[in-house]
Order: sequence, then C-alpha cells, then structure tokens
Amino acid sequence: MQITFLGTSSGVPTRSRNVSSVALKLPQKAQLWLFDCGEGTQHQLLRSDLKSSQISRIFITHMHGDHIFGLMGLLASCSLSGNVEQIDIYGPPGLNEYLQAGLRYSHTRFSFPVKVHAIRPGVIYEDSEFTVSCNLLHHRITTFGYRVAEKDRPGPFDIEKAKEMQIPPGRVYGQLKRGETVKLPDGRVFHGAEFCGPTEIGRKIAYCTDTIYCENAVELARDADVLIHEATFSHQDAQLAFERLHSTSTMAAQTALAAGAHRLLITHFSPRYAPGNPIELKDLLYEARAIFPNTDMAYDFMTYEVPRRRNVQLNKLGASQSS
Ligand SMILES: [Zn+2]
Ligand SMILES: [Zn+2]
Repeated sequence: MQITFLGTSSGVPTRSRNVSSVALKLPQKAQLWLFDCGEGTQHQLLRSDLKSSQISRIFITHMHGDHIFGLMGLLASCSLSGNVEQIDIYGPPGLNEYLQAGLRYSHTRFSFPVKVHAIRPGVIYEDSEFTVSCNLLHHRITTFGYRVAEKDRPGPFDIEKAKEMQIPPGRVYGQLKRGETVKLPDGRVFHGAEFCGPTEIGRKIAYCTDTIYCENAVELARDADVLIHEATFSHQDAQLAFERLHSTSTMAAQTALAAGAHRLLITHFSPRYAPGNPIELKDLLYEARAIFPNTDMAYDFMTYEVPRRRNVQLNKLGASQSS
C-alpha cells in the first residue's frame, strides 16, 4: 500500500504544489484509488510513475473546485487511451449531475462504464481485502472524510510443522491456514493458530479534508496507521480557520493525537505560507510536531509506503509504534 501525493496546495495551485489529489496504490490488486481530483491531476499522474490505466475507484470529499475540477479531464483522457475497464466514483450528492453536465456540454462520451455512487455515512465499499467507510466532516459544504481499512489476515502457514505432525496435505491445510479447528479421521484435533504466524494486522488509512477540527475526523482516524489531514492554516491564523472551516496545523495534530493514529501527514496548505512570508510552511510542521511528533509535511509526488504492523501482541500492549 503506497500513498502518493499528487497535489498539496489549497484553493489554487502554486509553482511547486498542485491542488488536492492523493493516490493509493494497491499492488496486490494492481489498482490505483484516487482521493480527490483537483485540476491538473492527470498531468501530475503523467509526471509520476503511477499508471492512470490502473485507476479503478475515485473518492471525492466535496464539491469545491480544487477537489473536482480535474475529474472530467482525467476521465476523458482515460476514455481516449482506451485501457480502462471501469471506474467507480464515490462522492457527495451533486457529483453525478456535475459529471453529466460536463459530458453534455463538452460533447464527451466515456468509453468505459463510470459508476457514480452518492454516498452516505457508513461503509461504502467492501471486498475480501478492504473496507472503505466515510463520515461527514465539518466544512462550508457537505464534505466526507474516508477511512480505508485492510482486513486482518492469518500469518504465514508453517507447512513443515504440519508435515512433521503427519497431517495429510490438501483440504485440511486450507482449513488450518484460515485459522479453523480441524478434527482428523484418526481423532486428533488441531487448531489453525498453532500453524500460523502472528496475525497480519490490516493497515488503516484516513483521509480528512476539508474540515475544521471535528469528532468525526477523530473517529475516522481511530488507530489509523496513517492519517492524511488538511492543515490549511498556521496556528497563528486560527481565526481564518474558524471563519472558513478549515484546520490549522495544530488541529490536524490534535486529531491525530486524539485518534491514537500512528503517523500524520499534513497537506492542503494555503499558498500564503510561501518562502519569504512571515510564517512559512516549516512553521506549520513545527506547530504540528509539538503536539504530535510523528508528523510529516506532504509535498507533491511524495510517496509513503504504509508499513505493516508486525506483531499483534506487541500492538495490543501498545509497546510497538510502527513508524
Ligand atoms: Zn480544498
Ligand atoms: Zn473545500
């Protein structure tokens, strides 16, 4: 699971930062999921080593232009390239009308099915490996935060041990691998847990933008391996954050702390903190780290490989903080 930031500026792009989009690469599925799609996202994809043809799902937080203006262009280009099978798009009400109007007035047709899902709080997607849920954030218009949770899976199966114990290979191995209890015809009983390594804990990622500090963001980020949270403003500009319903860097850090998240990646920065201004972006990072030390500041094309937590026991005791 690899996160790539394709845009980290709020409102307008700058020379070094495009507007919002984050890609989540799922190598086990050979799929790419996008979170938001600001204008120019397709150009950012071309400049990255990600493949647009792998995009299968796009999750939109809200209908502000800096999060959706790239959608039509990206989908139209995918159509012309002809190598996309289907894209499912999730987002607030109005998203489908927006796309339909774009299609109609630009005389565009998608060459593959584009399925738009108007979401409500709760689970919005689930398969054998992942659950994606959403909840409302607190912004000027209807805005959703997302949580992607990989399902836990049993640790690696110790086939040598099974052979040593003269358990016949075949169906029984499959049952033990899944952690089931098996009774053999000779009366011996085996528990899957005896043959499997520690459970591989599923990774969890939360994506919360745009929002001022809110409890729903804390819940979405509960125990997350990575929280991606907006930090539009510096703590010193908190008044602006309250007026525009955005977060300061300290609010992002407080959310991560309250949620027990393991790492915080802040993004969606106001262009006002460009170098040479009284407050610079590095100040936002210092402010956040003072509250939540495990914070990094995203930049365009930054990638982050989400580490897997190694040992279930250690994590239960709180002794292992994956970095
Ligand atoms: Zn925004
Ligand atoms: Zn917004």
